[in-house]
Order: sequence, then C-alpha cells, then structure tokens
Amino acid sequence: MNLRQRIIDSIRDVPDFPKPGIVFKDITPLLKDVQLSADITDALADYWKDHELDVIVGIESRGFIWGNALAQKLNIPFVPVRKKGKLPAETHSFAYDLEYGSAEVEIHKDSILKGHRALIHDDLLATGGTAVAAAELVKMAGGEVAGFSFLVELGFLNGKAPLDKYTNHIHAIVSY
Ligand code: AMP
Repeated sequence: MNLRQRIIDSIRDVPDFPKPGIVFKDITPLLKDVQLSADITDALADYWKDHELDVIVGIESRGFIWGNALAQKLNIPFVPVRKKGKLPAETHSFAYDLEYGSAEVEIHKDSILKGHRALIHDDLLATGGTAVAAAELVKMAGGEVAGFSFLVELGFLNGKAPLDKYTNHIHAIVSY
C-alpha cells in the first residue's frame, strides 16, 4: 500500500472537535505506527532534499513532530514557532485568525540567519492562516520562505491560496 493510503487509513476523524462543525484530523495514531512514522520522515526528506534548505521551521505543536525529524534527516537546524508567551528569549510575534478562533505566534529573534532558506512545516493545512503567520515570522527573523510542507491539506478550504505570495513550493502528502 502506498504511503498516502497508509496515512489516510491511520488518521482518525474526530467530529465536532474542538467545536461543533469541525472534523478534527487526529494524527496521533500515526505516531503509534513506528514504521509509518519513519516512512513519513523519509518521504518528506526525499521530497525536499534538493530544495537547498538551510532550516526547518515547525509550527506548535504537531509541526514539531515530523518537522524536527525532517531537520535531523536533512542535517539542518530546527526552529520552533510557538504560541505567544512560550519562548523565553526575545521574540517577533504575529497575530492571525484560525479555522476556529484566533491566535498569536512567536519566533526567537536570533533563530534564523539572514537570508537562510526556511521550510515551514505543519501537520495540517486548513485555511492557511497559521502557515502565513509562520511565513511572516520567518521574514521578520531575516529568513526566506523556501517552501511549505504539510502531511495533510484540507483542499476544500483553499489554504494554499494565501501561501502563493511567499513561494510556489507548497506540498502536502495527502489532500482531502
Ligand atoms: P489554518 O491556520 O486554518 O490553516 O489551521 C491550521 C492549524 O490548525 C494547524 O496547526 C492544524 O494542526 C490545526 N487544524 C486546523 N483545522 C484542523 C483540523 N480539521 N484537524 C486537525 N487540525 C486542524
């Protein structure tokens, strides 16, 4: 079975979480399958290896899981984008709207070297607001957005559209 189908088969749909009308795509079952988790890391590394990346930027919190694994596989640094108030040193911050609610995210000011090519990674692309916020933080920190990487894209929400202005390298393994 191909990787895409294995991911689809493992994702657990949780209706009405965290609020009515949202079908939450729960990726925790993927983490229990050691081989599947490793194969995801390998597939991400294979897809992105020739994009001359300098750094992986992972979005809290599920973007840390394969984001850091990918960074290790590509032998480049990992930088976390975190929710407001979690990073201890000096930060840039950006406020945005979510599919459900609103949020503010931050990045350490000294996390990315000037001109470094960053791949932004998260588990899931919905409306694109979170990924846009991460892209703005990468730019504030002095980096360039080289690509966006997701395990899953909810294509019907058209979240790729707001990412186009940063780069046309936007990839999701599975699209619903
Ligand atoms: P958005 O900013 O609308 O693209 O939302 C993406 C962020 O919210 C990601 O960090 C996702 O993990 C989370 N998210 C949004 N919608 C869902 C969903 N239906 N299932 C799981 N996670 C979601």
